[in-house]
Amino acid sequence: MAIAEDLFGAALFLDGGKKLQIWIDFHIGSRFACPQCKKPDCEVHDIALRTWHHLDFFEYKTHLHCRVPRVSCPDCGIHQVLVPWARARSGFSLLMEGLIAFFAQTMQMTQISEKLKIPDKRIWRVVAYHVNEALNRVDLSAVKFVGIEETARKKVTNTSLQLPICYPGKSSVYAKVKTRPF
Ligand SMILES: [Zn+2]
Repeated sequence: MAIAEDLFGAALFLDGGKKLQIWIDFHIGSRFACPQCKKPDCEVHDIALRTWHHLDFFEYKTHLHCRVPRVSCPDCGIHQVLVPWARARSGFSLLMEGLIAFFAQTMQMTQISEKLKIPDKRIWRVVAYHVNEALNRVDLSAVKFVGIEETARKKVTNTSLQLPICYPGKSSVYAKVKTRPF
């Protein structure tokens, strides 16, 4: 896991012999680039203590903790610095999200929840985020015909629904479509 130059691992210890807690901090006096406009060398305004669920270290559940600085940008205001090991507003490290996404290719959410001992609602949020991100990158400009799963049309009750869309002759994709009841 990469840690930026301005940050350092401060302490590691086991929590009751069952968890590995990793504390990361920044050097006092460090200055950071604004995460919004990228203006360099902004001073720290305040900090927020954040925690992320990381990959297990052998049999130990592992959490990362960091005093994440918020910088005062003279051009666009106060913003929290982005950490290199997690995306904004996620409670998981990127490596843990990668593992969840990998499991989600072949496992049900409840199975992943049981395996990782994480509530399935949190699993769903991670999977939904990455599925939507992947769909946004799919180029469907060449698609001329699509097929829609027969039973899915019965589930259409509102104006936005996840429908499995088959791209004949190519791979199947899932797309979020604007629709209405048939
Ligand atoms: Zn800025």
